[in-house]
Amino acid sequence: MRYALAFVTLFATPGAGFAQQTMDPVFAEHQKAWTTKPEFSSPLVDHLPASTAVPSPREVLGHDIGAPRVLDRYADILKYYRALAAKTQRVKIIETGATEEGRPTAIVLISADENIANLEINRQNLAKLSDPRGLTQDQAKDLIAGTKPLYLILGGLHSAETGPPEMLMELAYRLVTEDSPLIANIRQNVIVGINPTTDPDGRDRYTDWYYRNKIDDTDDLNPVPGAPYWGKYIFHDNNRDINYTGFSSRNLLAFYLQWHPPIMHDLHESVPFLYTFSGQAPQNPSLDPILFGEMPWISNFEMAQLTKYGMPGVWTHGFVDEWSPGYVGFMSTNHNGLFKMYETFGNGGATTALRHIKPVEGPGEDLHASDQTVREWFRPNPPYKSVEWSMRDNTNYMETGILSALQMTSQFPQQLLENFYRKSANSVAAGRSEAPYAFIIPSDQADMTKVALLINLLRLQGIEVGRSSAEITLKEGKFPAGSFVVKRDQPYGRLAKILLEKQKFPDNKLKTYDDSAWSMGMMAHVNVVATADITALDVAVHPVDQYKPEGSIGTASAAAYAVLDHGSINMATLRYRLRNVSVRIAEKSFKSGGQDIPAGSFVIEAKAYERLKAAVVPLGLTALALDKVPDVPMHEAALPRLAIYSTWGSTQNVGWIRYAFDQLETPYELIFKDEIKKGGLKSKYDVVIVPSQGRSAKSLVFDIPMRGKPLPYTKTAEFPTQGVYGSSPDIRGGMGLVGVEELRKFVTDGGTLITLGDSSAMPGEFGITPDVEVSRPTKAFYAPGPIVNAKVLKPANPIFYGYTDTTLTVRWATTALLALPFRNQNDVLMNFPGGDKMVQSGLMVGACEAKNRPAIVDLPVGSGQVLMFMTNPIHRWQNFGEFRMLYNALFSYKDLRKDLGGPPAVPDEPPADEDKSADACKAPP
Ligand SMILES: [Zn+2]
Repeated sequence: MRYALAFVTLFATPGAGFAQQTMDPVFAEHQKAWTTKPEFSSPLVDHLPASTAVPSPREVLGHDIGAPRVLDRYADILKYYRALAAKTQRVKIIETGATEEGRPTAIVLISADENIANLEINRQNLAKLSDPRGLTQDQAKDLIAGTKPLYLILGGLHSAETGPPEMLMELAYRLVTEDSPLIANIRQNVIVGINPTTDPDGRDRYTDWYYRNKIDDTDDLNPVPGAPYWGKYIFHDNNRDINYTGFSSRNLLAFYLQWHPPIMHDLHESVPFLYTFSGQAPQNPSLDPILFGEMPWISNFEMAQLTKYGMPGVWTHGFVDEWSPGYVGFMSTNHNGLFKMYETFGNGGATTALRHIKPVEGPGEDLHASDQTVREWFRPNPPYKSVEWSMRDNTNYMETGILSALQMTSQFPQQLLENFYRKSANSVAAGRSEAPYAFIIPSDQADMTKVALLINLLRLQGIEVGRSSAEITLKEGKFPAGSFVVKRDQPYGRLAKILLEKQKFPDNKLKTYDDSAWSMGMMAHVNVVATADITALDVAVHPVDQYKPEGSIGTASAAAYAVLDHGSINMATLRYRLRNVSVRIAEKSFKSGGQDIPAGSFVIEAKAYERLKAAVVPLGLTALALDKVPDVPMHEAALPRLAIYSTWGSTQNVGWIRYAFDQLETPYELIFKDEIKKGGLKSKYDVVIVPSQGRSAKSLVFDIPMRGKPLPYTKTAEFPTQGVYGSSPDIRGGMGLVGVEELRKFVTDGGTLITLGDSSAMPGEFGITPDVEVSRPTKAFYAPGPIVNAKVLKPANPIFYGYTDTTLTVRWATTALLALPFRNQNDVLMNFPGGDKMVQSGLMVGACEAKNRPAIVDLPVGSGQVLMFMTNPIHRWQNFGEFRMLYNALFSYKDLRKDLGGPPAVPDEPPADEDKSADACKAPP
């Protein structure tokens, strides 16, 4: 690798004229000292202009970027950009809103003075290119000639990946001040946007954690764990937030739809030394083929440039694919833009440390595929096997890479804009040339509140939705007036298709980085009809901005009211809004005034009319006036005293439950190991939920190992972001066996323990439900979040109030398989039929292994019960169709076992309609 040093000298002077600019000697000295090997630097970043006009990062922050043991807090990062903007015409800051914890979010725009002066015209031009309907080719050509591409860079979405928010400040200063031809060209031809920190709340929480617990950590083989929380809820999944729940992601999306950056570049840290994303397989075939040319085009240029400068370990391909649309930065490819992403090598802070890179193989492991020190065609100059690595090394790589990508953009701005225009135009054209031409969301669905959720999420992403005031007749049938039409001949028609269609995974041998399925209709249990009838494009519709179904309530004089249960998740919110009202649940359907009232409907006392009205109408629910109290069996809609258990080492999936519960106004206590170990759980709670968390039941129980020093997460004057959402003087150790015993006691004393997803392995594996056998699928099994059918075995059970079908689509959510003895078969409420036909969307390899495996089980233990969901009824803010199963369990926790238990019937002959593909499962794999 050392031979490359000669090139560094050759390229050390990027251009004439630039040589006269005065450089900052202190920066150069620091940069050199903090770079651990000469080859980890480049001629693009080994200097920084001295400026008397604008402040450098050192002047505002007190340090040069990449200083060892220094991380900046978000307020200081913003302070720097504001100080810079105050002194130059080349920077404009666009305020975009605030985070959950109230920190302001912003985008910093940098370009030549005249480009910044023309920002608004440029913004309008990009908007026209993003929606080329009505533009002639000539008009488009003229527009492109007068427009600069906006290249938007994100850093700090993941808070433990601490380098990008630092590097971006230096990049901003360099772009403003440097006169080298390379930088001057970028300034002239590109508008650079910087999102200073994409998760500001997480930045501050992680920075406090770093200074308190991690700054002296240099042992990468036994690292000090990271902070238990970043932002308020969802940790690393802020990059899987397909429906944009996070405020800062939502603010970014709103900016995107206003400003239309044709290129977005998201900076992450994980693998060495710089991986540049190129959109490897599997690729979503609905995306424009142009994209798959552009991405490697720029990635390969970056790889060649950095390698030429002598920097080892720059590679592309072979890490992240282009299948799921759920990553934050994919908002660009989803909207016909170009996405770029880096993984550089971060130390989880700014402490210089020896890093072991080559993985050591354990027994039975073949790590070649994950060994990034091996040469591959896409990694021709691989990273070292071990390395002393610093924040400045990381900064040099990221900044040199970005400058190279910007160099490319500045040399081909017209081509990139043409591509953006063409991809947008192609999206409109594709909607007219290939089925499905539209998606119809019929207006006669029993629960229109879930329809509203879906419509409003499409609208959030800029997708046009229309509503027909007349009946629609298509090949697929008739749809009533008021039905929604998502036509595909629109700029974001591709995205509509990607989100709404059934995912057909292209190749079972390929792996994908996250979920293989997300089909919105199946996730929400909303009927969405893809139409192959081109006349759908001619259906007259009026545009829908937001859709909010009107609720209604009958007359003020009645014997009681029935709130019809058609599966709305707003029934949950309703129950909490009527906290002090007696609400009973009808266990059977009944009729009143000729109207069918389904089982699960709430029956509410007449005197609560005013409160009921105030709740039901805005929630879009229907309350009927009853002339008499129904004589069907009913039980109280309970409001259990509720705890949610969280480990400290894996708070993310718990965060999704917390998010959903907060949205649905559900009160709960979040408890951790210390509260569990204290015991006496039954005196405090009726129900304890253990969300899916940790890698195994063992990690759920033992969590962060008792190694090293105590790890406090408590609020102090010095570290005010700590001790938020939970608090502990030492987050290590987990609930341990003591905690398991307390959970067992809680259940035997009459408590209800609800476990979700992978956590449902714990009661079996740790003896709370000794009859449950837990096994793991074979290595051949692969199920990255497909949507599958589950079969309801006890349709009358309260868990299924609001569901009318006995086959439900659910997201596959477990790595454990349960088996129960024959005598417990009547405790299984839902199971997986198994076989390939079970898979409705996405990928499951080895679907036979799931055949007849329990999906929901309720087992009596002592005087309590353990309810195990092998599904995850609240997976992200996404599988709305499943949410009610968890809420039903809460409201009817005392009544779940009415039709369960008892001796099972001897099985009959298999029914004639049994799935044939499941037949193929008879020989065990
Ligand atoms: Zn990341």
